[in-house]
Amino acid sequence: MTDFFYKLNRKDFLDDQYKDYSDFDNPLPIGYGQTISQPSLVLQMTRELELGKNHRVLEIGTGSGYQTVFLAEFAEAVYTVERIAELSHKAKSRIDKLGYKNVHFKIGDGSHGWNEHAPFDRIIVTAAAGRVPDALIDQLKTGGKMILPVGESNLQELVRITKTNDGKIEKEHLTLVRFVELVGEYGWGKNKY
Ligand code: SAH
Repeated sequence: MTDFFYKLNRKDFLDDQYKDYSDFDNPLPIGYGQTISQPSLVLQMTRELELGKNHRVLEIGTGSGYQTVFLAEFAEAVYTVERIAELSHKAKSRIDKLGYKNVHFKIGDGSHGWNEHAPFDRIIVTAAAGRVPDALIDQLKTGGKMILPVGESNLQELVRITKTNDGKIEKEHLTLVRFVELVGEYGWGKNKY
């Protein structure tokens, strides 16, 4: 996976005025008050997902499409939901240009997941929620894993959820992160534990 990490150019996912900063390991603006994550975190989240070549993955928060491409490279199919239409369109044209045919885009509130294509082997959320959206747990396969940031608006725990074969939900705390807010029904500040 590190080979792919070095091969993929983050410049391709940035607007012109930010391309010069693409090599820094920092989040950067992508417009509409949103950010592309720092590359090391994208790599870490992709690894912690433990993707398989036959996996169908749901991603909430397409953003620039940078994380999406990692999923497309290491899984069978990606279903990615973004609430801001312009970001989704831009991400789609970048990903089309790179030649990926296994990414499906949707514009809307991803806190509801994407029921028509459920259940998913893996789910990744790249915006911060106050709690784990129930719809996403429902749309996770038995044996499936989900990674998402959960917590307050300025700091969250990156959590890995596993739905075990006997239907239990296991939670692991991976690290502290700071993501932009998940907006929508299960957005930050609403439906807290
Ligand atoms: N992985 C992306 C991160 C983008 S930032 C990247 O590396 O570029 C998080 C994204 O989540 C933003 O684009 C924001 O618009 C989107 N988002 C926030 N709430 C959402 C929701 N309820 N449904 C879908 N997308 C959402």
